[in-house]
Amino acid sequence: MADVTRETMEYDVVIVGAGPAGLSAAIRLKQLDADLEVVVLEKGSEVGAHILSGAVLDPVGLDALIPDWKAKGAPLNVPVTEDKFYMLGEAGQVRIPNFPMPPLMNNHGNYIVSMGNVCRWMAEQAEELGVEIFPGMACSELVYGDSGEVKGVVAGVFGLEEDGSIGENTEPGMELHGKYVFLSEGVRGSLSKEVIAKYNLDADSEPQKYGLGMKEIWEIDPEKHREGSVTHTMGWPLGGNAGGGSFIYHLENNQVYVGFVVHLNYKNPHLFPYMEFQRFKHHPMVAELLKGGKRVAYGARAITEGGYQSMPKMVAPGVALLGCSVGMVNVPRIKGNHNAMLSGKAAAEAAYAAIQDGRASDELSSYETEVRTGAIGQDLKKVRNVKPLWSKRGLVASLTLGGFDMWTNTLGFSLLGTMKHGKSDAEATEPAADHAPIDYPKPDGKLSFDRLTNVAFSFTNHEESQPAHLKLKDASVPVAKNLPTYAGPSQRYCPAGVYEYVQEADKDARFVINFQNCVHCKTCDIKDPAQNIVWTTPQGGDGPNYPNM
Ligand SMILES: Cc1cc2nc3c(=O)[nH]c(=O)nc-3n(C[C@H](O)[C@H](O)[C@H](O)COP(=O)(O)OP(=O)(O)OC[C@H]3O[C@@H](n4cnc5c(N)ncnc54)[C@H](O)[C@@H]3O)c2cc1C
Repeated sequence: MADVTRETMEYDVVIVGAGPAGLSAAIRLKQLDADLEVVVLEKGSEVGAHILSGAVLDPVGLDALIPDWKAKGAPLNVPVTEDKFYMLGEAGQVRIPNFPMPPLMNNHGNYIVSMGNVCRWMAEQAEELGVEIFPGMACSELVYGDSGEVKGVVAGVFGLEEDGSIGENTEPGMELHGKYVFLSEGVRGSLSKEVIAKYNLDADSEPQKYGLGMKEIWEIDPEKHREGSVTHTMGWPLGGNAGGGSFIYHLENNQVYVGFVVHLNYKNPHLFPYMEFQRFKHHPMVAELLKGGKRVAYGARAITEGGYQSMPKMVAPGVALLGCSVGMVNVPRIKGNHNAMLSGKAAAEAAYAAIQDGRASDELSSYETEVRTGAIGQDLKKVRNVKPLWSKRGLVASLTLGGFDMWTNTLGFSLLGTMKHGKSDAEATEPAADHAPIDYPKPDGKLSFDRLTNVAFSFTNHEESQPAHLKLKDASVPVAKNLPTYAGPSQRYCPAGVYEYVQEADKDARFVINFQNCVHCKTCDIKDPAQNIVWTTPQGGDGPNYPNM
């Protein structure tokens, strides 16, 4: 849509994404100067619609941003009361005591929350301060200035024809220009990916690593519900096939978040992350908890796992990357929301100071310094070797050596230095012929569900007549390469059943993209071995409609 003329709106700061990072930045900017013009653009139909976290929230970010959040009614209602960690075998479990764990792993003082609801509340705070928030506005393009700086975004393109061309009903969107553009798109942001590539921001960092997180909300028997209880497990069913584990968080109203994360650096392309999650719920300990309950929502989202050594440079002329667009998850704690908030606050402070000095469209290097040397960098540095140890030496080494390393880091040193991650998750995939297929039990419809039934519980919706937002760089690769070499892994790694190979008698296999099912997790963009699938934004308002994830 290069030769389209669009309306332009000018702001001080344009923020892409109303997650904890983007909303924190917006709030902090207006706290510092009520006259700043700040806009937040969100692709979800409402703030929170695309937010999926565990979530146990460490309130350190909120404390720094809105110290009186309690008085202001923030939805942090369930303090963590018990914190258990189990190693699972197929038929039983062993509890790992809390005492050998470094203090940073302690969940006391944290809250079980719906991050969707926290973001909805943060949006109210931002709007009260005068921030303009536009949900249903996907930012589909970056706008560059004459010197190559990022000067804005294109948002609100609707009604493209199925082939991507402009039709009678096309609304071309508008350009929103800012002195600074903040990309707070979360994990594997589509515009963030473009900025990282254009300015070579990852030249000096390790490849980003990811997991796929899947989550269901269950309403369970009140007798079994223990508000405030937090459980994590490792081991079965993944065993040696992949890193990962589960979380079970008891929130309010007899509800429980049941989640499962599979590290995306698994080698065996026969692995089916969604079915691993379904199988997990049949473990006796989990089945007993869920029996008699009902699943009320389902969703999935990738999670950044590269940590400290994978953070790319996060500023370029006119633009800054925030939160999980950089990758700020503390992997052993499975927490990134607190760092997302702190990064939003830091970016806002850097932009405010720059604008006060009459600057615009340059690099906010003080933001990057604060992230690397301040609370975020310190949080991530202590745990930087846990993930590489897990990838290279397995679960036991990550628990023992990784635990030891976290202890020494807490005391200020590491015997391991900073370990490298090595390959990207796409490169980690090995040919199907080198691995045995995995036999997954059929879902029983009570504890476990087939994928398409579960996708209906993400309430995802995409206008069918628009072009598919999942693009292939080369349309021949799925059938010519991925099917024979990797047994068509997208059929399995996608947690929403978007990809399928259709085999009709006497015909070649066909690759079908059911983009309508997409829950915006971004796993295909990450894990496709040929890096041939590109996730782009569909029109605004499309995608999942998570209730209180
Ligand atoms: C399964 C799972 C469990 C987790 N558990 C926890 C936990 O218990 N505790 C914890 O602290 N962290 C947890 N995390 C990590 C946490 O979710 C992230 O660290 C956090 O969401 C990062 O915040 P963010 O603001 O950077 O991005 P996000 O929260 O992802 O928000 C990004 C927002 O930007 C919007 N957006 C993206 N691209 C565009 C675009 N182009 N145009 C317009 N809008 C756009 C998205 O729709 C979204 O609303 C978990 C993650 C997963 C996947």
